Amino acid sequence: MESKGTRLEVDLAALAHNFQYLKSKIPAETLFMSVVKANAYGHGITTIARKLQDLGTDYFAVAYVEEGVEMRDAGITKPILVLHAQVHTLQQCIDRCLEPVIYSVEMLEAFIAFAKANSQKSYPIHLEFNTGLNRIGIDPDDLDRAIAIVKATDAIKVCGLQSHLAASEDLSEKDFTLRQIETFENLCNKVEGQIGYQCLRHTDNTSGILNYNHSHYSMVRSGIGLYGYGNDLKFDAHLKPVASLKSNISQIRHIKKGESVSYNRSHKASQDMDYAVISLGHGDGINRIYGYGKSSILVNGKWAPTLGIICMDMFMVDVTGIDCKTGDEVIIFDQTHPARDMAEKAGTISYELLTGIQKRVPRIYLNS
Ligand SMILES: *Cc1c(COP(=O)(O)O)cnc(C)c1O
Repeated sequence: MESKGTRLEVDLAALAHNFQYLKSKIPAETLFMSVVKANAYGHGITTIARKLQDLGTDYFAVAYVEEGVEMRDAGITKPILVLHAQVHTLQQCIDRCLEPVIYSVEMLEAFIAFAKANSQKSYPIHLEFNTGLNRIGIDPDDLDRAIAIVKATDAIKVCGLQSHLAASEDLSEKDFTLRQIETFENLCNKVEGQIGYQCLRHTDNTSGILNYNHSHYSMVRSGIGLYGYGNDLKFDAHLKPVASLKSNISQIRHIKKGESVSYNRSHKASQDMDYAVISLGHGDGINRIYGYGKSSILVNGKWAPTLGIICMDMFMVDVTGIDCKTGDEVIIFDQTHPARDMAEKAGTISYELLTGIQKRVPRIYLNS
């Protein structure tokens, strides 16, 4: 009974391919920021960041300071932007040379106080403007206050100006996106005019890079594209999924018509059936939305649908009529059966499926 066990195989050659493809979509002088938040979208932050640093990424982005600290500990020396820094972590941010995104006037004041207390001069920060996503960001109405605060100190330097597109992947919202881009550009011109120096301008995420070729500015921020998904099949055709989730059959069982499988008797057999138990569950990131046949996995080349409720450490699939045995490898998703398809069939997106794969699943790096 040979079995490699449950694992997420991560193809670093595919990562390199995606990096080069995305770079080919932007001008040579535009900097490339690799977004590695949420454990590099589940792929393992330290190995992915090291590989991207070797490939020549100009910048990294994480969501939280703790993620940046993990990267510094792993030897990452490139600039690291913190997209959603929290006020209680600003000291660590300065200690580890992480560049915070400042998204409110209060946060700007708080950060400047920290920078001064640490005797900093020209500490690099980025200002985020809300231009329509209505998530975090300095509102245009607060711009003059923010500029006055920046001009009154030499403790910080505005290294970058950023905004985040609300609907870059949804071309039915193109007018909205174009207005966001225009608002961003006007804000940037105003800030740079008043503070008297140029900043990095960055607003494109992966879909911004692929769908809007006049908003690349001096830097782009790409996450999902690096991992092989472009939010559109026409772009996915040029990208390679980096992660493949595989497991093995732990046990094969047989039940008779009228018997049931899983918690709350959630699948009742309408005929005699064979099913396989797979060693993955919601504790690994295969959430309950994938149960009740909303997903299928590949068992020796045949699709086997999930049966009833997904448990914490395992789930069951129908293998009636499929030639298989205990220990056989099964594929949950891979490069030809992408995570996108599995996610969409269950009503979610590749991002959520990938970032949800828990630490308990070992990452196996291939083609380094
Ligand atoms: C996560 C994130 C990105 C990356 O988005 P992708 O769609 O994965 O390319 C870029 N910018 C911000 C502000 C983000 O939060």
